[in-house]
Amino acid sequence: MGISPFITVAVDGGAASGKSSTSRALSARFNLMHVDTGSHYRTVTLALMQAGVSPEDSAAVETRLQAVPLGTVLEGRTARLAINSDVPADAKLRTPEINALVSPFAALPAVRRFLFDYQRSLAALARAHGFDGLIMEGRDIGSVIMPDADLRLFLEADPAARAARRVAEGGVDSIARRDQIDASRATAPLVCPPGAVRIDSTHLSLDEVVEKVAVLLEQLRAAKPTVTNS
Ligand code: C5P
Repeated sequence: MGISPFITVAVDGGAASGKSSTSRALSARFNLMHVDTGSHYRTVTLALMQAGVSPEDSAAVETRLQAVPLGTVLEGRTARLAINSDVPADAKLRTPEINALVSPFAALPAVRRFLFDYQRSLAALARAHGFDGLIMEGRDIGSVIMPDADLRLFLEADPAARAARRVAEGGVDSIARRDQIDASRATAPLVCPPGAVRIDSTHLSLDEVVEKVAVLLEQLRAAKPTVTNS
């Protein structure tokens, strides 16, 4: 019997560029496990904030992270990061305080090292749970975490369009400041990875973006050999 090929998709882009909505829609359509690595950095930021550690004190960050046990909880097709078996509610991860601190923490090599192996291990988890692939979104997925992904996407949109989306979602966010810190940091900066497909969604609806990527995924699936288990 033939089994669908396992497809890996890396989605990168700046804040509010449409990564999450696009990734969720593709996850449902192609039975891909979805991972939002931005929420990983937000979860770690929350844990460090609660421990009273500041991003200026990288030694304290490194020490504190040694006592932070990571786990995964599957919610539908989305794999969420748990700390001490607890997955913080989205509302707790998207506060103005976290929006302000997440990029300074994410710029620290100790924080990135801490999440690197965990994020790389998620492809095996997706296979073990019978998904037909993995779609992972963030800032360094196509460049660092999954440089060999079958498809690498880079989403972009005018800063004004991105700010308007965040306001429409009711969020208070420092999009431009986060992008500036994320793109200029020394370790794993936000870049368009070589070979990535760039999609500018300034004048596209979510459905139009999803359709564009779906065409590419159908082509990939058709070209990739199916696994035979007979
Ligand atoms: O995707 P989201 O906007 O929720 O990401 C929050 C922050 O997490 C980003 O601004 C960035 O500082 C950090 N991040 C990162 N690398 C990733 C994903 C997110 O540095 N792969």
